[in-house]
Amino acid sequence: MTEYTLAKTAGFCFGVNRAVDLVFRLLDEGKHPATLGPIIHNPQLVERLAGRGVRIINSPEEARPDETVVIRSHGVAQEVYGQLEALGVDYADATCPFVAKIHRIVRQESGKGKTVIVAGDVRHAEVEGIRGHCQTPSYVVEDGEELRILAENLSEKEKINAVLVAQTTYHTNRWHYCNEIAKKHYTNLKIFDTICSATSERQSEAAEMAAASDLMLVIGGRHSSNTRKLQEVCQKHCRTLLIETKDELNGIDLFAYDKIGVTAGASTPADIIKEVLKTMSEILRNEEMEDFATLLEQSLESEKIYNGKRVTGVVTSVAPNEVHVDIGAKQAGIIPAEELSDDPSTKIEDLVKKGDEIELVVVKVNDQEGIVTLSKKRCDAARGFEELKKAYEEETILDGVVTDVVRGGVLVYTCNTKIFVPASQSSDSRVEDLNTLLKKPVRLKIIEINEQRSRAKGSVRAVLSAERKEKQAKFWESVEIGKVYQGEVKSLTSYGAFVDLGGIDGMIHITELSWSKLKHPSEVVNPGDMVEVYIKDFDPEKKRISLGYKKNSENPWVIFQNDYHVDDVVKVKIVSFTAYGAFAEIIPGIDGLIHISQIANQRVEKISDVLKVGQEVDAKIIEIDVDKKRVSLSMRALLSEDEQKKDKELDLNSEVEGVVAEKIVEEAVVNAEAE
Ligand code: SF4
Repeated sequence: MTEYTLAKTAGFCFGVNRAVDLVFRLLDEGKHPATLGPIIHNPQLVERLAGRGVRIINSPEEARPDETVVIRSHGVAQEVYGQLEALGVDYADATCPFVAKIHRIVRQESGKGKTVIVAGDVRHAEVEGIRGHCQTPSYVVEDGEELRILAENLSEKEKINAVLVAQTTYHTNRWHYCNEIAKKHYTNLKIFDTICSATSERQSEAAEMAAASDLMLVIGGRHSSNTRKLQEVCQKHCRTLLIETKDELNGIDLFAYDKIGVTAGASTPADIIKEVLKTMSEILRNEEMEDFATLLEQSLESEKIYNGKRVTGVVTSVAPNEVHVDIGAKQAGIIPAEELSDDPSTKIEDLVKKGDEIELVVVKVNDQEGIVTLSKKRCDAARGFEELKKAYEEETILDGVVTDVVRGGVLVYTCNTKIFVPASQSSDSRVEDLNTLLKKPVRLKIIEINEQRSRAKGSVRAVLSAERKEKQAKFWESVEIGKVYQGEVKSLTSYGAFVDLGGIDGMIHITELSWSKLKHPSEVVNPGDMVEVYIKDFDPEKKRISLGYKKNSENPWVIFQNDYHVDDVVKVKIVSFTAYGAFAEIIPGIDGLIHISQIANQRVEKISDVLKVGQEVDAKIIEIDVDKKRVSLSMRALLSEDEQKKDKELDLNSEVEGVVAEKIVEEAVVNAEAE
C-alpha cells in the first residue's frame, strides 16, 4: 500500500504569506493594487489576483494614479523607492524582513567602503534589489568556484575589505562550500549568513523526506527559485517531480511507489496543495488520504501564534546566543540564550542540540520581523512548579544551586526554576555573608507553596538539621572509647580545640594536642583542619566527648628510649636554670638535668656564668629513670682524666654539699612532675 507524507514546511513561508495577505487586504480596503513584478512565483495565484484587477507592472512609471504599488517580498533597489517618492505614487512595502536585513547590512558595510559579494543568482530580483542598496561596486557569485575566481581578479584592497552575504534562498551546501573557499582565498572576509531559516529548514526537511521516499512531489511554480531548489535537493535522493497543479498528477503512476513525499515551495498557496492532495486521494481511492486535507487544516490552524501559547518545536540550529526552532509556523522561532534556562552552570550546547523536540512558550510575536520569540525556561519552570508541589506534599529533599543573593535571603535553582530561601533557612548555622553561598550546591525542602503566584519557599536548614540529628543518633549508638574518627576543627579556645565529628562536636584538651607544652592550641591545629582523633572519654547524658589527638608513637619518651642510652654523648640545648643545675633539651619533650656538680671540674658558683639559655653543649647521659621520667646529664664526664684530676680536690671539698644538693634536686623534680 502506498504511504504518503506531507512536509511540515510545505507552502507559503512567512515573507510570501505576508506579501499575499497585503495584496488581499488592499483589495478588501477597496484599493487597486499593482505589484512590481509578480507578487509570487505562482502563476495560479497570480492569475487569480489578475481576476480581481491586480496588475503586474515593471516600474513605478507604469503605475496609474489610482493604484497602490506593492513592493513584493524580494525587495527592490534603493533607487526604486526614490522613483516612487519622486512620482508621488502610493505604495505598500511587502519586502520580507529577512531581505530588508540584508539591505541594511550591505548599505552599512558598503558605506564603510567595503566590497559586497552576493552568493546567489545574478538574475534574481532579490539579488538585484540587494545590489541596489550597495554604495560601492558589488559582485555576484553563483558558487564557491566563482568566489575563488573572483578572489584572483579583485585588487588586494578590495579583497581584504570584502563582505559576503547570501541570497535568502541560497542552497545551504553551496554556502558551506563558499565559506571554505572564503577561508582559503580571502583575508578577513566578513561573512554574513543571510540564508533564510525558512528556506534551509524546508530544504533539510525535503532532503530527509526524499531519502525515505520512492517519489517526491514538489508543488510550486516552475519559475519559483526556491521551488526549483527544493526539486534539486530532493532529486539527489529519489525520483522527484515538480508539479504546478493537481492536473499534472494525471501523467504520474502513483501506484508504482510505496512511499511518496509531498512538499511545496514557499510561494505555493495552501489551496493548491490541498487540491493536489485531494486528487491524489481520489486517484488512489485511499481514504487515509482524506486526512491530508485535515492535516493541512490543522497545520494552518497551528500557525495562529499568540503570546503565552504553548508550542512544541524542533531545534534546527544552535548558535552561541540563540537557538532556532521550527514550531510549524511560518515565522522563524527563536529562543534567546537567556530564555533557555536559569541554570547558570549550563551551556547552550548542554541544553539542546539540533533535532531535539522541546516544549516552549511564546513570549513575543513580531510580524514585522517575522520572528516568534520563545522561552524554554518559562515552560520548564511551569513544569518544575508541579515537581515542587509534589516535593512539598511528599517532603522530598531536592538538589539545587544558590544562584542569587536577594533581599532577605537567596534564590536556589532547582526543578528548572528559582525558589526563595530566607536567610534564616539558608543554613543550620548563622551565615554572616550570604554571598559566600553563591554557586554552592545545596539540598533543600519545600516549606511553603503559593499556587496563585506559582511561588515556593525552601529551607536548607530543615535538611541540615534533620541530617545532623540522624548523624548524632547514629554516633551515640556506636561510640566507644578508643574509636577513631576523622573530623574538622571548628573552633579553638585557650584550653583546647573543638572538632566536628560529622554532626556532633568533641573537644581535644590542649594537653592532648601535643607531647610538648603548648601556649595555645593554634600551635598545632587551626579551624578548617581535618584531623584524626580518638575517643578518650564520653558522657551521653551531658553530650560531652573528650578526644585524644597526640599519638603514642610520637611520645618523646618512647622515641628517647628507642634511640638513647646511658653513656651516649648527645648535643643538648640549655633551656632553663635552677639553683642546683641546668635543664637541657635532648629531643623535643625530653629535658635532662645537668647537675651543678656535673657542669665543670671546678666548683661553679653561678650557673649563668658558665652556661647561657639557648646554648648548645655536648653532654653524656649518665642516668635514665623511665619510671620517674628523669634523665641525668654530665658535661664534666666528657673532660679528660688530667683535667678531672686537677680539680679532684675541689670536688672532694664540695662532695658533701653536692650530695645534699642532689637530694634537693630529686625532690624538686618529683614535686614538679606531681604538679
Ligand atoms: S523565503 Fe524567507 S526570505 Fe524569502 S520571503 Fe520567505 S521568509 Fe522571506
